[in-house]
Amino acid sequence: MAALNSPMIRLNSGYEIPQLGFGVFQVEPSETERIVLDALDVGYRHVDTAAAYRNEEAVGRAIASSGIPRSEIFVTTKLFREDHGYESALRALPESLERLGLDYVDLYLIHWPAPARDVYVDSWRALEEMRDRGLARTIGVCNFMHEHMERLLAESSVVPAVNQIELHPAFQQREMREYQEPLGIVTEAWGPLGQGKYDLAGIPELVAIAERHGKTVQQVVIRWHLQEGTVLIPKTVRRDRMIENAAVFDFQLDPDEMSAIASTDRNLRVGPHPRERN
Ligand code: NDP
Repeated sequence: MAALNSPMIRLNSGYEIPQLGFGVFQVEPSETERIVLDALDVGYRHVDTAAAYRNEEAVGRAIASSGIPRSEIFVTTKLFREDHGYESALRALPESLERLGLDYVDLYLIHWPAPARDVYVDSWRALEEMRDRGLARTIGVCNFMHEHMERLLAESSVVPAVNQIELHPAFQQREMREYQEPLGIVTEAWGPLGQGKYDLAGIPELVAIAERHGKTVQQVVIRWHLQEGTVLIPKTVRRDRMIENAAVFDFQLDPDEMSAIASTDRNLRVGPHPRERN
């Protein structure tokens, strides 16, 4: 199938990222190849994995057997927090590339700041170097809070292109987005559907909007992310949902609908707290 009609967002490296991608957290390694092949067949061209997910090899096999040119697929992987530090980070990306069977990744991210380890600035120097060596086209971070980002910016010279953070209707991260967007740091949403940990269909504002457009609440949430300008990587193991989650380019939310969704923020974090994940 042809590529999705996803908008592209330009990163501070000059490269573009498809705004709607596909995540493979908690996808069993034995199932990942089939699932990523399905996603590529449905038209996704942006796959988000991580060393910690233990499925990079299967992602790589799917990319190789898809027949889609490497240059048309945007691949992200991440530095496992056990590999923090300059020397270990320098080792970790080549190992990920080996598992993926690729010469470079499009985006390499620090997975967690792990502040108690106190080495994310050293890891970042390794990422800068690997970018210069062409192993990663673009580098960025995940789960950085204001304090981590301030320190990174003060102690290094390359501004992260992306900060991938938990972001969904009940946890909208307005402050972080307002802080990082003027710095040119693109916000990428993980858990864009709330990881299925609360019932989107239990939020009356979403239900009303979904009914008005003849869409599911998940499609409304994905559309909301797109109009907010965040990159997002919803995960599903089901092909029918891959198709559903991508059928979001034929309707638009109006300003009242966008504000109604803004009002559903409850500051509800469903994943780990970045200060505590070490
Ligand atoms: P998501 O918000 O994408 O939610 C995934 C859940 O929603 C799954 O249970 C899935 O079920 C379900 N789902 C997906 N589509 C639909 C649909 N149309 N209708 C109903 N249910 C649906 O959570 P993730 O945690 O997976 O986040 C997305 C990606 O973000 C990850 O896969 C990973 O790549 C990345 N991530 C990054 C983190 C980081 O620290 N940087 C942390 C966590 C995630 P099913 O599969 O059964 O369809």
